Order: sequence, then C-alpha cells, then structure tokens
Amino acid sequence: MVLKHNEVTDHTVSRPVTHELSTDNIRFRIDVSGVVQGVGFRPFMFRVVNNLGLGGFVRNTTGGVVIEVEGAKSIVLGLIDTLRHEAPPLAQIKEICISEIPLQNELVFQIKKSSDSKEESALVSPDAATCDTCLSEMRNPEDQRYHYPFINCTNCGPRFTIVEGVPYDRKLTTMKGFHLCLSCKREYEDPFDRRFHAEPNACPSCGPQIMLIDSSGRNLCAPEHVVKECRVRLCQGQIVAIKGLGGFHLACDATNEKAVVALRNRKNRIHKPFAVMCADLQTATAYCEISDAEANELDSNRRPILLLPRRSMPIGKEKPIAKAVAPGCLDLGVMLPYTPLHHLLFERRNPACLVMTSGNICSEPIVAENHEAMTKLKGIADVFLVHDRPIRNRCDDSVGFVSCNQLVLTRRSRGFTPLPVELRHPVRPTLAVGAQMNNTFVVAMGKRAFFSQHIGDTDDLETMVFLRESIDRMLSWLGINPEIVAHDLHPNLLTTRLALGMADGRKLVPVQHHEAHLTSAMAATNFEGEAQGLVLDGTGLGTDGTIWGGELLVQTQSGCQRAGHLRAMPLPGGDIAVQRPIRTAIAFLHASVPEAADLPIDLWQRADPYEVKTVRQMVDTGVNTPLTSSAGRLFDAVASLLAVRDEVTYEGQAAIELEQLARGGNLSHALELYLNIDEDNQGLIIDPSPLLKGLVQGILEGESRSNLALAFHAALARVLAKSCAYLRNNGAPQTVFLCGGVYQNRILSRLTSEELRLQGLLPILPGIIPVNDAGLALGQTMVANTATQTHLATGNEG
Ligand code: ZN
Ligand code: ZN
Ligand code: FE
Repeated sequence: MVLKHNEVTDHTVSRPVTHELSTDNIRFRIDVSGVVQGVGFRPFMFRVVNNLGLGGFVRNTTGGVVIEVEGAKSIVLGLIDTLRHEAPPLAQIKEICISEIPLQNELVFQIKKSSDSKEESALVSPDAATCDTCLSEMRNPEDQRYHYPFINCTNCGPRFTIVEGVPYDRKLTTMKGFHLCLSCKREYEDPFDRRFHAEPNACPSCGPQIMLIDSSGRNLCAPEHVVKECRVRLCQGQIVAIKGLGGFHLACDATNEKAVVALRNRKNRIHKPFAVMCADLQTATAYCEISDAEANELDSNRRPILLLPRRSMPIGKEKPIAKAVAPGCLDLGVMLPYTPLHHLLFERRNPACLVMTSGNICSEPIVAENHEAMTKLKGIADVFLVHDRPIRNRCDDSVGFVSCNQLVLTRRSRGFTPLPVELRHPVRPTLAVGAQMNNTFVVAMGKRAFFSQHIGDTDDLETMVFLRESIDRMLSWLGINPEIVAHDLHPNLLTTRLALGMADGRKLVPVQHHEAHLTSAMAATNFEGEAQGLVLDGTGLGTDGTIWGGELLVQTQSGCQRAGHLRAMPLPGGDIAVQRPIRTAIAFLHASVPEAADLPIDLWQRADPYEVKTVRQMVDTGVNTPLTSSAGRLFDAVASLLAVRDEVTYEGQAAIELEQLARGGNLSHALELYLNIDEDNQGLIIDPSPLLKGLVQGILEGESRSNLALAFHAALARVLAKSCAYLRNNGAPQTVFLCGGVYQNRILSRLTSEELRLQGLLPILPGIIPVNDAGLALGQTMVANTATQTHLATGNEG
C-alpha cells in the first residue's frame, strides 16, 4: 500500500483504512520531502511519537526525512495527521509518502544519525522571526526571560547569520562563547522542551547583552535602561545604528521629517526610498493598503520588506510618514519587527514606525560588527545600539511584493538564505559567481542549488572581498569542491576575474547574461521542456560582442537562440548615459526621430544645448557610443522624454518613476502607440521609432503624461506578445518566460502576460527567485552544466 499526497494544504487526507482490526500493530515507513532538515523536525517527531508511545526511528535522508513507526494502528494513523498539520513552523512539507512495511517489534523511538553525505549535515535553516510563544514569554513579567532581547527557541531566532561551520551545532556558531547556565542547559538537553537543541538558546544570566554606546565606545546608560533610552533618542529625532540579525540598520523616527532628511544627507542617499519597520500589522495597515496575502507574508517568519501601495493619508491617529522616506513614491517598503529587540523598541508604539535602512556606506556590504559600525557609521549615527553576539554571516533584509497572491522577490536574502532551490535534475558540483550588479552566487551539487545572501554591486573592493569570503565559506560548509565554475561572458567584469582566479584545473564556463536569465527562470520554476524568453534588462554582453538587453530568446533542445531583439540604439558615453536618461532620450530621438529636433517639446528646454550638440555628434560619428538593444535604456529615454527623470541617483530609478506615472494613466483615453516589427536574417527586430514619434506627437498635443506613460507600457507589451506569437507560428514553443530586471515592473509584467494570453501563449513570471540579476547565478549554473555535458558527450563520440 502506497499513499501519496502532493498537497499538504489539502486537509482531506485520505487514510489507509484497509485494516479492520484497530488493535493490531502496524509499521509504516513515512517519507517526508521538502524543507524538513535543520528546522527541528526530528525533535518534533521524537516528542510526538514518544508521547504516543510508539516505536521506530526518524532519520534525515538526502531528499528529506524518513520515519519508521510502529504500534497500534489507530495511533499510527493519528500520527500522520499530526505530522501533516502540526509540523514545526520552519518546515515546509512538499510531499508525504506512506507505505506499510513488516513489523520489527520495536518499542522505543529514536533519532537516528544520518548515514550519508556532508551536504545533508550542512543544511542550515534561515533566520526566523521571533515566534509568538517566545514573544509572550518575553512580555510576561514572571518569566525569566522577561524583556530579554535574545529570547529564541527551536522555532525561531538566528540561524544562518550565526553559523560558523557544520554540522549546525552550538560550538560551531557565534554562541560558542556563551556558556549555557544550568536552566538553559536543562532546556537544551530535554527532548520534551521547546528549546531542545535550540542552538542559540540563552537567558539574561548566560546569554548576550545589549549596550547603548556613542561612537567613541562610551557606555551611555545602564543595561536595563538601554531600550528606553534608545526610544527616547529616536523620539528626539536622533539616528541610531541598531545591530540586528544580519547586520546593522540605521534607524530613525519615520514620521520625523528632520531626522529622515538628516539620515539622507549623512548617508548621501539622495532619492532611493528607505524601508520602514512598523510596530505591528495594524500600524502598517494605517499607512498602506494591505491584502490578506500581503498581511500573511509580512507576518510570516521570513519577514521580508514588502512594497505596498501607500495611502494618501494614514488612517486612525498615526502621524504621517515623512516625505523624505520615499519621495514621490506611490509604494512604501514595509516590514514588521523580527527580533526580540525590535519588539522591545516598539513596545510603547512610540515611535510606531522607524526608517530601517541597511547600515552601510554607499554600495559597500552591510556593516556587521560593533567596531566596524563605530568606524564606518560614525558620521551617520548619533548612537549605537549594539550587542555582544557576533554576526558571522552578513545578511540584508529580503525585498519583494505580492502579485496574484504570490510572493515575488526582488532580493532574496534574510529569511530565505541558505535554503536551497530544489532542481529537477542533478548537476555536477558547480560554483556560479553571478552578475556584476546586485550579485548573489550559487553553489550547486546534486539536485540542490544554494543561493548566497545578497552580496551587492561588485564594482567596489569591499563587496568583492565579501563575495570571495562568502564563496569560500559556502564551499567549505557544503564540502563542495566545484568541478565547474560558471561566470559571465564579459571578460572584464570583476566577477569573471574572480572566476578565472579560481580556475585551478576546474572547468571554466562563460555564460551569456540573457541566456542565464531565461535558464534561471526555467530552473526556478522547475520547468522542463522548451520555452521562449522575453529577457528585458539593463545591459549584458551578447554573443555578437554588442550590448544586449531587450531580447527574445528561444530555448530548445539544441540550445538557446536569439530569435529577436529591440533595435540597437546609440548610447553616447556608455555609463554616462546610464546615469543621465536625458542623454539617452536625445540620442534615441536623434537616431530615430531626427525631425523632433525642430519641434517645440519641453525636453529641449530642460536639456543643456552643449550636451545636445555633443550627443548628436557622438551618435553621428559613433565615437564612444556603443549600440545597445537594452530595454532598460528605452525606459530611460521615455522617462526623460516625458519629463519624469533626466538624471538618476540609483539603478532603475527612471523606469520605476515611469511605472508610477503610468499607474495614474487611463488607456481608453490615451493615444495608441506602437512599435514596428522588422525581420532580418538574424531574427525579429523591434523598432521603437514609431513609439518615440508617437510620444513626441502626444507631448505636442498636450496629452496627459500619465496616459502616455501607460500607453508606452501597453505598446511594448503588445509588440512583445505579437513577436512571441510570430515566433510560435514559426515553430517556437508556446511557453514564454518573463525575466530580466525590467520585469520587476508590475504594469509591464501584467500587460505582457495579458497580451501573451490573448495570443494563445503561456506566460510565466518566476517569483521566488528574483527576475533581476540577483537570480542570474542559477541560470549560469544550469547553462554551464548543460555545456559541460554536451562537451563531454562530444568528447566521447570523438
Ligand atoms: Zn520562539
Ligand atoms: Zn541561561
Ligand atoms: Fe540582467
């Protein structure tokens, strides 16, 4: 008898009820797959089964956990229900397979040591937000951990961020310096206690402590007054560097305009929105419109920052959020408290909403240690709320949004790292070093791909050091010596050089950026078969030596083909144009609508005549003006043309603001815009010239800018879907993946999906692995493995 349930959320569990004699003993083998290791699953089984008085064992396997259990039939059957509905909160059960096996007359139940691989013992859970049980203990004046900022248990607390090695055991965490007191030790050793083997277990008498210090390291108050003093200072408008799980945050009262402006000035962060942490869900609801799915995600133990549509005015008595928090943004990045210390800070709900931004300078990695904070954040923070539990692995907050009730991550880090992505087919031991910007890397082996935490933009030295150090750590934990090192096709990226430096007899495989995007999306969704990919992003080196970024790819068994792209447009000065969308607008107009030069559009009033002249010359001569099919640059040009943004201070700013403008648009009132589809012997070429011409006309006619912005999104979505349909009609697959950073644009992804469906195509937007460059390393892993297999196969034949 084999029962198989694929959906654990399905409560109509079919039971094996074939045995009539309920008093008979029975033995079952239960295979549980999913995220069931390193999450307290075996102690949970141990407690449950022992309470029921059954015999058998539980053991980790490469695919999950196996349980063999025997005893009275009715009790064994009841156990399966318990397992399904009361599994530890950090576990994510994918599948449960049950089969009846011969009795072995075992009377006791034990946790068996896993026999096999290091990979398995290396599984560490991500950090998890403080659970409700711990919170109520922390709020109970009778409890020994009353107001203790480091309370945790088997179901919550730090994990990845404190791990120094494997197996996950206290002596290989940054808790090793704290010696368990007798009472904590008792909990730790008692299988029936909810802190059984909670490695970071601690109490006020034996665990870490907080301190409030100034930048010279001077203690500002007694330990018992730290939280209160901190609250007072935040209310006064001070900026506090707060040591959290994966690093420091810079915090200030989000309703205090002066404080937020000061934080911006000191951090030299001009426009990029700050995320806020609200005291609780109710406070978050006062500021933003929150759906049930969003509320669940905000409140989950992963606690990501979610982009939420903000209300024009807060409801209830909440003070309005300072304008400087997210200037001009219709969304607010919101998260809820996730450490006991956060909860303590918000206990009086004053302040009820804090700016919580990564404690770092410019694009450097997040600051993790006290001494580092005191040097690097000296000029930014007024005071430092620190503690003495070291952070081993820096880990930034994760960021995402909810679309169609699904979490779509744009940054996958705290709360997710180091959970592996389960692959459909095994791969050889591989390291993929990832993209240049927004870097994460992947270490993969067998059917698991381990994504690193957010590393950052590798154009600065500190970030490269962090990348290298994190790679070494992950390889050593997982005990993987990569046979394959995958990197970007571009020879001059620092990530490529890092990969070359690690060659050492390994197979180095360069992978084209956009192919990696598509393959990553396919692997992330466990998709098997052939597919088209609409890969829209900033830039990546193409196989023809030009810069790509608006690509129609087709992935078939014979490989990945470029079947079409946006028409290559001039980018005068390369990187300078990326900083200055107005330059791109001038260049695009000059290249495709030259007559616009004589038309009275406001762009010419905003532009510097000298820049206009220079850009036109550069376009004409091609000097220092690469050509690019980048969709990101098309968004830049349109954003500037519509007077949204002429110069950016952070990546993607122009496109983000253009999307916001489009939200106010109405398609039925908008001018219809279109792009042309041409074809040459290489494939389809989508030409934005008529679109740009239409926009110029719309501006001249005084058409609403919101409508024009929305019409632009719609026209792009339509032409992309038409192109995919054309390719499908000529034999390309029906499934179309939307990927690349541009697809973080929710209007464009919605419209593209709708248009693709109208064309009878099947759109897929992956969610749990970012569509931007942060998801690239997975694609590099898969492409490099395929390439190596092909290579080996050819080698064998020869
Ligand atoms: Zn807990
Ligand atoms: Zn203790
Ligand atoms: Fe990209």
